[in-house]
Amino acid sequence: MALHRAKDTHAEADDPYADLFASPLSAHVLPKHRMPAEHAPPDVVYELLHSELLLDGNAAQNLATFCTTWTEPYVGRLMSECVDKNMVDKDEYPQTAAIEARCVSIIADLWHAPSGDGNGDGDSSGDGGGGVRPRGAVGCSTTGSSEAAMLGGLALKWRWRARRQARGEPVDRPNIVAGPVQVCWEKFARYFDVELRQVPLEPGATGMRAEQVAAYVDENTIGVVAILGVTFTCAYEPVAEIAAALDRIEAERGWDVPIHVDAASGGFVAPFLHPDLVWDFRLDRVASINASGHKYGLAPLGVGWALWRDADALPAELVFQVDYLGGDVPTFALNFSRPGGEVIAQYYAFLRLGRAGYRRVQQACADTARYLAAQVRQMGPFTLLYDGEGALPAVSYTLTDPRGAGFSLYDLSDQLRMRGWQVPAYPLPADRHDTVVHRVLIRHGVGRDEIALLADDLRQALRRLATGTPTDAERTGFHH
Ligand SMILES: *Cc1c(COP(=O)(O)O)cnc(C)c1O
Repeated sequence: MALHRAKDTHAEADDPYADLFASPLSAHVLPKHRMPAEHAPPDVVYELLHSELLLDGNAAQNLATFCTTWTEPYVGRLMSECVDKNMVDKDEYPQTAAIEARCVSIIADLWHAPSGDGNGDGDSSGDGGGGVRPRGAVGCSTTGSSEAAMLGGLALKWRWRARRQARGEPVDRPNIVAGPVQVCWEKFARYFDVELRQVPLEPGATGMRAEQVAAYVDENTIGVVAILGVTFTCAYEPVAEIAAALDRIEAERGWDVPIHVDAASGGFVAPFLHPDLVWDFRLDRVASINASGHKYGLAPLGVGWALWRDADALPAELVFQVDYLGGDVPTFALNFSRPGGEVIAQYYAFLRLGRAGYRRVQQACADTARYLAAQVRQMGPFTLLYDGEGALPAVSYTLTDPRGAGFSLYDLSDQLRMRGWQVPAYPLPADRHDTVVHRVLIRHGVGRDEIALLADDLRQALRRLATGTPTDAERTGFHH
C-alpha cells in the first residue's frame, strides 16, 4: 500500500494542471520535523512558504529595528546576481574582493583615518586583499557589528597581552570597560574570557559619562568601548571626553588604554548629520571602530565593518594567510564562507547616494523623528527621554506617572500591535532599571506620513486605554 500511495502522490505531484491549493502537499499540514519522503512542485512549495511568511511581522512597521527594511529594486537584483559568489574566495572573485577594499577605503575616509604613506587618493581597485587600504587604515567586512565587535575586542586583547608580556607582567586577568552595551560585548567577554566591567547609568544619564571611567580602568584593561548610538537610549557617548579622561589616566598611572568605538548605528549617521562631532580616528586614542552596514549604512541585512586606524592596531597573528584558494589571501573573520551580495549592495549605496544623498536620507529621518517627538509631547502622558536631536534619528519616551497612568507602556505596545506597529517597551539598563521606555527608530523608508499615522494610532490607543474596554454586553447594548 505504501508503495502504491507513494506512486500516486508522485503522479499527482507531477500534474502540471493541479491547483496550487489542491495539490498533495497543500492538502496536509506541512512536514515540520522530518524531511518529506517525496519531492513536490516548486510553485506549490513557493506559494505555501510565501503564505506562511505573511504571518511574520511587517518589516516596514517594525519600529524596533535599526536595520534596513527598505531597499531599491536594483539592490535586490545585485543581491540575486551575487547569490553564488563567496566573499571569502578573493582569488576567484577578484572584483568582489576589490569592491570590499573600496568600501573599507571609503569608510576609513568617512571616519578620518590618518593617512599612511600620503597616497590617500589612490585608487584601490587593484587591491584584492583583505581590505588593506592605501591610507594606512586596515579593515574588513563582516556579517554585522557583532562579528566586527568580536574582531575589535580580540585585537585589543592581543595588543594588551603583548604589551604586558614584553614587560614580564601577568596576563591572566584582562578586562574591558563599557557602559550599557549591546549584547555582542557580553558575548565577546564570555566567549573570549575577558571580564566585562559595565559602568552603570547614573540618574538621568543616557550613556557612560567620562568621569565614571577612572573608577573602572586599571592595568588589566584591554580597552574602553564607547558607543555611538547606545542601543537602549539612542544617545552618543562622549568619545572625545572619554579619550581625554584616558589621557589623564595615562599621565597619572602610566596605563595606555585604547578606545574601540561601537558605532553600529552612529558610524553612518554622525559623518553626515554631526560632522563637527569628533568621535572617530581624529582621536589618537581610537584604535578601532565597528559599524553595521545594514543599519544606517543603508545596505541590506548581512554586512558590517571593522576598521583599525593602522596596521599596528591589528596584531598580525590574528590575520590568517589562506593559500588553498589560489593566491595568498589574508583573512580576519570568524566566518569563512559568506555571500558577496551585501558588500556589493553597500558599494551600490555609496555610489548611488554619495555624501549628499546620505546626508539627505539621514536628515529626512532626523526631521521625522523630531516631528514624532513633537506629537508625543502633545499627547499628555509622556515624558520624552530622547527627542531625536543630536544623535540617532529616533524618539524614546516614558510615562510621566507610571503608577497613576492606569496602563503600562507594555499595554500600549499591545494596542499598537493590533494595527501592525511594532514599538518595543523595555526597562533601561542598570542603574536605571526602574524606567520603562518606548523607543521608535526612524530609518530609510519610514516616511513622514507613516509616522503621522502611527501618531494617530497612538492617540487612539491612549483613548481606548483611558476608557477601558467594554464588555460583550455593553458592546451589544444588552443590559439587565
Ligand atoms: C545593533 C548593534 C550591535 C549589533 O549589530 P549587528 O549588526 O546586529 O550584529 C552592536 N552594538 C550596537 C550599539 C548596536 O546598536
